[in-house]
Amino acid sequence: MADVHDRETRSFNMSRIKGKNTKPEMMVRKFLFANGFRFRIHVKELPGKPDIVLPKYKTVIFVHGCFWHGHAGCKYFVVPKTKTEWWLNKINGNIRNDQKYHALLLEKGWKVIYIWECGLKPGNIQQTLVNLPPEILSSKDELY
Ligand SMILES: [Zn+2]
Repeated sequence: MADVHDRETRSFNMSRIKGKNTKPEMMVRKFLFANGFRFRIHVKELPGKPDIVLPKYKTVIFVHGCFWHGHAGCKYFVVPKTKTEWWLNKINGNIRNDQKYHALLLEKGWKVIYIWECGLKPGNIQQTLVNLPPEILSSKDELY
């Protein structure tokens, strides 16, 4: 498809993503869909079962919870005071898996994008999604 069409669909209507749906992954999916992107979700055939796959752009997106994936330096990543060791093992395991999947995906030629849950909080979401993937939203000037 010609890029002309994509440009038109990129006239982003940010109000569309400020809705009541707070599930982070749904917010990203809605945003992409509303802007003309077509994607697959929870693709089992790829390492880590990426949340969103954009085949046309050979790009996968993971929407990560800050706690479960140990978002470094994030205020939403607070290790519980009880069973601390157990939690840290769990979270470090997730981080190790994420790194492993990342490497495998890169090996297969995929681009990998992570969207953190904190970036989708009210007040942050606009910035996060507009800044999304430079390789996808190739001309950011059009977004403003
Ligand atoms: Zn975070």
